[in-house]
Amino acid sequence: MVTIDLSGRNALVMGVANHRSLSWAIARCLHQAGARLCLTYAGERLKSTLEDLAVETPGALVLECDVTRDATIDAVAERLGREWGSLEILVHGIAFARKEDLEGAFVATPREGFQLALDVSAYSLLNVTNRVLPLLAKRGGAIVTLSYLAAERAVPAYNVMGSAKAVLEQSVRQLAYELGPKSVRVNAISAGPVSTLAARGIHGFTDMLKKHAERSALKRNITKEEVGKAGLFLLSDLASGITGEVIYVDAGYRMMGW
Ligand code: NAD
Repeated sequence: MVTIDLSGRNALVMGVANHRSLSWAIARCLHQAGARLCLTYAGERLKSTLEDLAVETPGALVLECDVTRDATIDAVAERLGREWGSLEILVHGIAFARKEDLEGAFVATPREGFQLALDVSAYSLLNVTNRVLPLLAKRGGAIVTLSYLAAERAVPAYNVMGSAKAVLEQSVRQLAYELGPKSVRVNAISAGPVSTLAARGIHGFTDMLKKHAERSALKRNITKEEVGKAGLFLLSDLASGITGEVIYVDAGYRMMGW
């Protein structure tokens, strides 16, 4: 029988805003498989929500980390080094773009909006990885980030976030190549639309959900639990031969020809 046992593995999960977050679904699966968790929140406002959620994953560390502030990433790395000594799993479920940059004309995106979206949503993957690499390289590990179809297709209203996802997916491949010799795997899950805080910032998201359900092979939308299970697979030894890939958890939407 094949079982997934992550006991003895340490997992840093970034991007849990609330119980709907895709990274929370992955965190729950990792916890059930026995991994030790550290959950990070982006700012003081989210602290109590995350502390309340963490009750469901006993023993989890809850730390602040705003990826636009390197000092907070270093503080997390330092704390994990002190408490755990090594890191085997990193979940990057972080994205942000200003509301005004997700509305209106993509062509008119201001420089600061473009830079902010790419900084938080794409650059943070390599920046965080770099800062925890001494811990990840100790025993080898696995990284999963979350992407969306707009990385490779034009999706209405996705605007600058599509650019960020394209950079994110290329970063996955480049990191996978570079970290392979350290036995660190890097993959992305490209998820179909799920109603979360971030998703609700996309203009016309409800319509997107409807179209997705109509046009996907499975004739429905995905659940966050399905992202959680795919994350668990990619972060476990079952996926030991997989790196640099983008795995679609989209109910068979992308592969359709219409
Ligand atoms: P979410 O709002 O629950 O998660 C986004 C997270 O990013 C939040 O926890 C937020 O605090 C964090 N974040 C934003 N700025 C940050 C910063 N400066 N520092 C640290 N963290 C910061 O929404 P979600 O849908 O779970 O999003 C998670 C990931 O999944 C994102 O990369 C998103 O693009 C991707 N994704 C979502 C969908 C969807 O339909 N929900 C589909 C495909 C991909």
